[in-house]
Amino acid sequence: MSSVINTDQKHKEQQALNFDTKLLHFGAEVDAATGASSVPIYQASTFHHEDIFNPPQHDYSRSGNPTRQALEDYIALLEGGTNGFAFPSGMAAISAAFMMFSSGDHLIVTEDVYGGTYRLLTGILNRLGIDASFVDMTRIEEVKSALRPNTKGIYMETPSNPTLKITDIAALAAWGKEQGLLSMVDNTFMTPYYQRPIELGVDIVLHSATKFLGGHSDVLAGLAVTANEELGRKIKYLQNGLGSVLGVQDSWLLMRGIKTLSARMAHSEISARKLADWLSGRPDIEAVYYPGLEGHPGREIQERQSSGYGAVISFDAGSGERAKRVLNAVKLPLVAVSLGAVESILSYPAMMSHASMPAEVRRERGITDGLLRFSVGLENIEDLIADLQQALEQNPV
Ligand SMILES: *Cc1c(COP(=O)(O)O)cnc(C)c1O
Repeated sequence: MSSVINTDQKHKEQQALNFDTKLLHFGAEVDAATGASSVPIYQASTFHHEDIFNPPQHDYSRSGNPTRQALEDYIALLEGGTNGFAFPSGMAAISAAFMMFSSGDHLIVTEDVYGGTYRLLTGILNRLGIDASFVDMTRIEEVKSALRPNTKGIYMETPSNPTLKITDIAALAAWGKEQGLLSMVDNTFMTPYYQRPIELGVDIVLHSATKFLGGHSDVLAGLAVTANEELGRKIKYLQNGLGSVLGVQDSWLLMRGIKTLSARMAHSEISARKLADWLSGRPDIEAVYYPGLEGHPGREIQERQSSGYGAVISFDAGSGERAKRVLNAVKLPLVAVSLGAVESILSYPAMMSHASMPAEVRRERGITDGLLRFSVGLENIEDLIADLQQALEQNPV
């Protein structure tokens, strides 16, 4: 019994720590059995019942595994929620959260939602009778007018992808609560280092941990965190029932990545601001999207709900033709889908992350053919700018 008190006490002490310190002192950083300096990888599918009257804490790894559990407790601590869950991809986490809903339910979803989430809603969940309305969440009136008698949830993604529009999380979470809706935020771009939606009133936070949390382009994973135990039990039931769990090796790799989150985010953001300023000053760039730029329409809300602007910038090179030539001319960034890694990644939303969106829907949502998305890594920013400069100047408008 005294161990329960110690655990509670330890948990309180951890919650009082500053975020950077929590990243390294999250409770499982030292193995209690051996003193080992990292969480052991429990490569086991099942657990021996020494005494059938006193079953072990974990009995089967789909339902629970100590390595995965350490990661799940870690993300819950970082997001300030009660329960964390680790899934084999961001889409698996998002899918499990949507399984909270039933046939006949309606959801309100941010219009420039991640392409895979759009596909899930319009190609799979619609077949199961779960309906979604896509609205511009920067306009609260538009959100409110999408409400139907059968609306059960509101799904936000902010900053949005790839046009980096900002949604007022606290305002919509409060309205959702009034209407009895379950509120969810995809927090992939900001991470809990900059933004903690549960503190703003949100019910469930989702992550593609493949991006900034993992941070090294070497692991695919998803995470969910609930604001209370009751929701935690529901997501647990879904995770176990759907069989959607992250493997132990990947759980370990993800914890290894998360430890350096604050150092990586802080470095990349300083560089991202420089890159955004540099791009803004160029006459051959049609538009620059970055919430830290003066004149960004969401900047004030961003500063209220987040402690930073992140490391992703989108810009319009003028045409699809030029964007493609620039992609072939850069030498430093990975030209790839994905973002949030130690190395910079330059991607082409129209042909990559948002290819699953019909062309006319893309255009409506500002995802022009000339749009490029730059996820700033840890390289020296002067080198990144020089490289982009040669690629742009070799390929004038
Ligand atoms: C990548 C991404 C996802 C999907 O995550 P996967 O790990 O690729 O399944 C969801 N939301 C956002 C914002 C993303 O960038």
